[in-house]
Order: sequence, then structure tokens, then C-alpha cells
Amino acid sequence: MTTIEDGLSPAAVHTRPGPAFVPASGDRRRHPAPAHLRFFHGPMDCGKSTLALQVDHNQSRQGRHGLLVTQGDRSAAPQISSRVGLSREAIEIDDGTDLRLLVRERWAEGHRVDYLIVDEAQFLTAGQVDQLAELVDESHVDVYAFGLTTDFRTSLFPGTRRLLEVADDIQRVQVEVLCWCGLPGLLNARVVDGTMVRSGETVVVADTGPADLPGTEDHPSPAVRYQVLCRRHYVRGELGPTAAGPGQLAFP
Ligand SMILES: [Zn+2]
Repeated sequence: MTTIEDGLSPAAVHTRPGPAFVPASGDRRRHPAPAHLRFFHGPMDCGKSTLALQVDHNQSRQGRHGLLVTQGDRSAAPQISSRVGLSREAIEIDDGTDLRLLVRERWAEGHRVDYLIVDEAQFLTAGQVDQLAELVDESHVDVYAFGLTTDFRTSLFPGTRRLLEVADDIQRVQVEVLCWCGLPGLLNARVVDGTMVRSGETVVVADTGPADLPGTEDHPSPAVRYQVLCRRHYVRGELGPTAAGPGQLAFP
């Protein structure tokens, strides 16, 4: 059998990188295996959370330990949940959370964190995205971030913008959601009291169905919901023949 080492002295062979120099697992700091910052983005309801949970499942089956974080979960027990009925406990973060500290605290408690799953990544600050990049580069933690592409004004969310700038790998999630006309849904429309709006706060958390915002006695809360539209119907502001939900009056 001939190998490329033939003709080299044993000493020369040992100065060459090769299988004998592959680091043992668990020694990633001295011999860093490349970690990656991966970003998956798309419109609402495109299956991002389902994909996040699938990635977590695949990773944990390989014996790896993950930390799941999310934002905007208003429940007492934060979780990443998908419309197909899967869910997993997650840590609720806000824009003041240092994600490097979050991981280091888990390590200090003796937990392994091999990878991080970040749902609702559009809400991250640019600084938090840079923290994720640091975790990847300096601590070799794999990061999988999932988020919306654009807000209801068709502008990139801040977290999304920074992830598009610095992520190693960017994937547009295969669109499962369709506009009412049947074309792939691309943009998120904000609908207030049955009418599409194009200005206002970037973030108003609402369900994709009718939802109530906190209101006052003088100003009862408007029903805010989001609807995914194709670009043409977003531009026209056309919500489709079934846009008026139950309890809403049709115009005569
Ligand atoms: Zn359409």
C-alpha cells in the first residue's frame, strides 16, 4: 500500500498534520473545532420554531447539550412552541441580557452548553448578535438563530439585520405559508381593527389571530393581528376576501 508519507522520515511524518493530530472530543478549546453562527429567517408562520425544535432534537440525539432562549413569550413558563404541537422549555431573555454571561453561568453551575438555540432572534440587539458571534469564535459554541426577516413596514428587524451581516450561514426558511391568493407569503402585515397599517411601533406582540392589547377605559384596546401577504397584496394593502374575521362587520 502506498501512502503520501512514503519516503518521509518518521520525524517528518510527525510534524505533519494528520489523523494522529485530531483532537480528542471534549478538548475543543485547545484544538478548536469550528463552530458556526447559523441564521434561519422568514415570514411569520413559515415553520421557524418547528425547525428550531428539530435542530435541537437532532443535536441532543448526538449527545450534545443545548440551551434554548426566546423573547416575547408572555407566559409564566417560557417555551419555544410550534404550530405542529411541539414545545420545549426555554429561557426568556430581554434586550439587557448578556448572552455570554448566560452561557458562562450555566458552565459555572456545571452544565454543558454545546449549542445555543435562539428563537425570535429578530428582537436581539446588534450587540447581542455580536455576543453570539463571540461565543462561536472564542468559546466554540454553535449558535442556531431563528427569526423574522422584516417587520410590518418591510424593514429588517435590528437583530435580523446584524445576523445577516455577521452570520456564517444564512438560510431563508422554505416558505410554508401562503398569501390568501395562493402565492408564497413574503411580508408581514399588521392589521389593526381590520385595516392594514404601515406605521407605528416596530414591536407590538400579538398572536397571528385576533388579539387584545392593553387598553384604557377611554381607549379600548384595538384588535391587532398580523397576516402574511405576497408582495403585491402587501403593496396594495389587500387582505383578501376572508380578512374580516368572526365578529367583524362587513361593509355593506
Ligand atoms: Zn397575494
